[in-house]
Amino acid sequence: MLPPASLDGVAGVSGMGLSAGAFSRITFLEDPVCDGCGLPFEYELEAGQRCLVCTQRPHIFARARAACLYDEHSRGLILGLKHGDEQSHAALFARWISRSADPLIRDCDVIIPVPLHPLRLLRRRFNQCAEIARPLARQRGLVYLPDTLKRTRVTATQGGRSLRGRRLNVKGAFSVSPRQASRVVGKRVLLLDDVLTTGATADVCARALLDAGALAVDLAVIAGVHGAREVPK
Ligand SMILES: [Zn+2]
Repeated sequence: MLPPASLDGVAGVSGMGLSAGAFSRITFLEDPVCDGCGLPFEYELEAGQRCLVCTQRPHIFARARAACLYDEHSRGLILGLKHGDEQSHAALFARWISRSADPLIRDCDVIIPVPLHPLRLLRRRFNQCAEIARPLARQRGLVYLPDTLKRTRVTATQGGRSLRGRRLNVKGAFSVSPRQASRVVGKRVLLLDDVLTTGATADVCARALLDAGALAVDLAVIAGVHGAREVPK
């Protein structure tokens, strides 16, 4: 029997579905990391500690974990999934996140993917965050709620915008469907997104979920961007 093809298109298969070379170039993140944004530090942190940015400018979501750093090595894999060519990456990312976000998953009841607007979903045919959240929910026994959080308007890409620009771009762009609000009341929600940059999108989603009665919202992502936020002057 032939071995399954590795996902980055190079011969040779690692246990995680990537060639050994591609796998070794990914910077995986492990605890201890900042509890607020999931990014690592040069110095040792104790469990639950937060970086200076998260201390001074807390996110609306309570905690975050990223499976790896967003860099030139992880970017291709993530964009491949996002643009629909590499749907098989979703199961791989679900396994990565199951490990990196384990402390959050243990505390959460339900998992909600950051939604696409229906028009964009029509064009792209699938939501990469939903493709990761669905197998993760199955593996970890979380209730999967793909239709509870809605994107109520089409937003332009967040790329190339300042923090303020990103906040304005997604302001009011998400809401909890009134018919489904009861599914999050009193629940700890794990929100799933692909990349954590400034956190503007995840914050707006967390706000909508908290306003609908969620007890707390944590965030799990494939990759975190180092230095996307600055300490307020
Ligand atoms: Zn932080």
